[in-house]
Amino acid sequence: MSGSAATSATRRARRALERAAAAVAEADAAVGDRRPRLADVDLAVTHDDLDAPGTLEVTTRAAAQHDTATAVLRAQRRFNECTETAVLGEELVVEVHAAGYQRVLLLETVARSRHRELEVLAARGDLLLVPGRRITGNDLTRMSPSAVVELVPGHPRAPRLAVWGTAGTAGPRLEVLAAAAGAAWRALVASAEAARADRESTGASLLLSGALRLAGLGSWAWDPATGVVTLDDRLREMLGMSAADPDPDLETWRLRIHPDDRGPFTGVEDPAAHAGTSAPYPFRIASADGTERTFLGMSVPLATTSSSVVQGLVLDVSAGEKSTGELVRLAQCDSLTGLANRAVLDVRLAEALDAASPGNAVALVLLDLDRFKLVNDTLGHQIGDALLRQVAVRLEDAAPPGATLARLGGDEFVVMVPGVGRVEAAAIMARDMIRRLRAPMLLPGLPEPFVCTSSAGIAVGHEGTADDLFRSADMALYRAKDGGRDRVAVYDTAMREEAQARHVAEHRVRRALRTDGLRVVWQPIVDLRSDQLVAAEALVRLDDPVEGILEPKHFVDTAEDTGLIVDVDTWVLGEVLRQLREWRRDGVGLQVSFNVSGKTLEHPAFAHRLAHSVESTGAAGSSLLAEVTERTLIDLSTSTRASLGELRSIGARVGLDDFGTGYSSLSYLDRFPLSFLKIDMSFVRPLGSSDRAEAVVEALISLAHAHGMVVTAEGVETELQARVLREMGCDRAQGWLFGRPVAAGLLPLGSRP
Ligand code: C2E
Ligand code: MG
Ligand code: MG
Repeated sequence: MSGSAATSATRRARRALERAAAAVAEADAAVGDRRPRLADVDLAVTHDDLDAPGTLEVTTRAAAQHDTATAVLRAQRRFNECTETAVLGEELVVEVHAAGYQRVLLLETVARSRHRELEVLAARGDLLLVPGRRITGNDLTRMSPSAVVELVPGHPRAPRLAVWGTAGTAGPRLEVLAAAAGAAWRALVASAEAARADRESTGASLLLSGALRLAGLGSWAWDPATGVVTLDDRLREMLGMSAADPDPDLETWRLRIHPDDRGPFTGVEDPAAHAGTSAPYPFRIASADGTERTFLGMSVPLATTSSSVVQGLVLDVSAGEKSTGELVRLAQCDSLTGLANRAVLDVRLAEALDAASPGNAVALVLLDLDRFKLVNDTLGHQIGDALLRQVAVRLEDAAPPGATLARLGGDEFVVMVPGVGRVEAAAIMARDMIRRLRAPMLLPGLPEPFVCTSSAGIAVGHEGTADDLFRSADMALYRAKDGGRDRVAVYDTAMREEAQARHVAEHRVRRALRTDGLRVVWQPIVDLRSDQLVAAEALVRLDDPVEGILEPKHFVDTAEDTGLIVDVDTWVLGEVLRQLREWRRDGVGLQVSFNVSGKTLEHPAFAHRLAHSVESTGAAGSSLLAEVTERTLIDLSTSTRASLGELRSIGARVGLDDFGTGYSSLSYLDRFPLSFLKIDMSFVRPLGSSDRAEAVVEALISLAHAHGMVVTAEGVETELQARVLREMGCDRAQGWLFGRPVAAGLLPLGSRP
């Protein structure tokens, strides 16, 4: 078997093993929960054969009274005759009715499943039937029966029995019948469950042995309860043992392993304490004829409710063409790039942290390509993979000796360097890495050299856990991305506070979404030629129970990061449509502007739902102005493009918000046709005091007009700014000069603001 086949076989077998363990545990738990506790009732049910629920035998502990005994015998006969749980309840109805109770009602789905028979009883006027739906506690109160007995207390699927009137003195006591039926019911449920569990665990072990055979793996299991290490046939074969050779005890098994290779077996004697092996390890072992074999193996502790064992898998690699070292490398590396995988990184990081001291710390660098998703989306996965491979090669060139380079998946790379004296040294190394990655690369299939930037977060530590270090490096990476990407950030304690603040903000947004804590305020947009109110922009606010009304700067970024913005935007849009309808009803013909995040547009359901609401509520799609950011257009994915297309198809206009804060390039106008442009307040502020700013804005306005776009200036605070803009031919303006964001009712509708 080749090395990579060995790796994937090991992986497959491990997965099968884990699945099997889960199936056994689940089946065990299922039976454990529902097994009847016969001691709870004053009647006991015994059954010899789990698969034959018809052979029930009911015995009373104290069958003192003759009528009780008769009733029990009668009940017993009925239960013995029935083989289906569903029939039980009905049998009981008949029984109780025969005992002289005036009306009997069997409650629950069981009754519904056997309607026809029950209808006969109902026709006789003996049975009250409520067909077609589940009977609730309220129904019972309304019908006020004289007794309601739950046949199996607490069991969600057990029938209940309601009885009206009193029985003649000779009749059996209702509770006796109920208890007998309850016990029988439970025994039936238990037999069905036990049979199911049995089937499942047989299925699971078949699945497991099949998987092992396919993978060419042997398996062993150490069970302290039996004191032996059970070897499967395949492992016996590998070791040259015959079927007659007894399973070894733990010590004998351990002694067969080469003394230098026993490390991973530490702690196996106590399955609960055995950590298992996170990556396959090689070990040498003596076979029956004394020759040494080399196995690649791994072990996991497996616990079910009834037992706790250590299960091991081995692959015989002695005959392989490769050296053991090479096999281990294959088993432990990321198959795409050849770098270490997560399991190996975890082990090495834990070792490095164990050995670390203040002057000899561990640096963890998390490195992530900027906008890698876009590469995959637009250039395809093959090019994406080629890029990742080249990144790995460049990182290997840049990494210092002793460093572990790993890929955790996607474009997430990690460099772990032990023995670091100063944080700056790690920062210099990381900067060098992202500088090397920035250099153009030639990728197969791409005619042009490809340039890709990356960001890195660094944490350096000598104490604490690997998880702590990961978390810190992750916060630093977040900072690097947030700071504009293509940079390195080193963790500092302020980041923890920031992370904490983000956490609080996230909690706020979640709570607001749950408790109706979002609000919309409206800011007027006026036509600069007439000064008339022509539109209003919907701006979200969060009504926090502690902080009061919060502006978007306190929560929108976090909502973006966590993806909650999709829900926020969806909520705002619902409010926008509602308001639009109200205004239309009142004869107010305003356009409404709303902000929509790139994340939201990426969500395929968003625009679709919007189109549906517009259609079903009769709102005018043409009154909608959707404001998107430059970022959205730069990252334009297929799904975003589809959403924007859908917005246009309902008549909504799509425009660019905050122009001037980002790249400020109109080059992406080719990517998607835009209807309007909003010039950011940073361009508007210097108007009237800077000729240069005026020249820029004027050029911008004519450029936008040449593209057929309506131009709105944001943040207009002074008459002077408004006048300059008007002279330049700017179409619309929004800002404190014309009105702050207010509740809908406070907008100066129908009059000059
Ligand atoms: P934006 O869409 O550019 O909205 C304009 C922002 O400028 C608003 O801030 C507004 O209150 C403020 N503003 C307007 N006129 C003036 C002025 O004359 N002077 C000054 N100093 N400020 C002015 P706000 O409401 O805090 O919103 C900030 C940003 O939050 C918005 O910028 C928008 O990007 C985002 N946002 C607001 N609501 C939503 C929403 O429902 N969804 C999404 N995704 N983002 C939203
Ligand atoms: Mg806006
Ligand atoms: Mg804006």
